[in-house]
Amino acid sequence: MGDLGKGYKLVFLGDQGVGKTSIITCFMYGKFDTSYQATIGIDFLSKTTRYEDRTFRLQLWYKKLSLGDTAGQERFKSLVPSYIRDSSVAVIVYDVASKQSFINTSKWIEEVRAERGSYVIIVLVGNKTDLVNKRQVSIEEGENKAREFGALFMETSAKAGFNIKPLFCKITSALQGNE
Ligand code: GDP
Ligand code: MG
Repeated sequence: MGDLGKGYKLVFLGDQGVGKTSIITCFMYGKFDTSYQATIGIDFLSKTTRYEDRTFRLQLWYKKLSLGDTAGQERFKSLVPSYIRDSSVAVIVYDVASKQSFINTSKWIEEVRAERGSYVIIVLVGNKTDLVNKRQVSIEEGENKAREFGALFMETSAKAGFNIKPLFCKITSALQGNE
């Protein structure tokens, strides 16, 4: 008997270049692609995952945007509320080697809270932990911010494949607990 599981929408937010697409690619296909590809539009991928005998259908939504395309950035900004609206999970990513990308997560978190209130599970993710010598944001800073905003927290490296599976386990576990 086919168990399709319950479907959940996950949205990925955060500055350009922090590694959102790479995290999704690593989770979906178990690979890391160094070629930088950013195209316009919003797309989603679907993956079924199991957690404690239950099946979860995760829909990963992400924006495709060309780098430095301010028209595209503006257009995306106007799409954000509808993008977020029916999401169960917001994954907000920063680059641990970019203080600015960490600072900018606040506005993403606030926007998600404004749109979804307490219905949404927010996960703050510090990516690129492999850039050890370039780190600008400590684990403690990440943890503190997550606590402040009532978010879950995880550090990852899509490049090293570090903590990608645990990230999605944490998400499905939180979805399970939220019912
Ligand atoms: P997005 O704009 O947030 O979707 O970012 P991308 O996933 O396209 O990644 C932007 C750039 O960062 C690409 O050149 C990736 O190869 C690189 N990148 C992504 N994740 C990591 C990581 O964990 N470590 C390192 N060193 N580079 C990464
Ligand atoms: Mg991308």
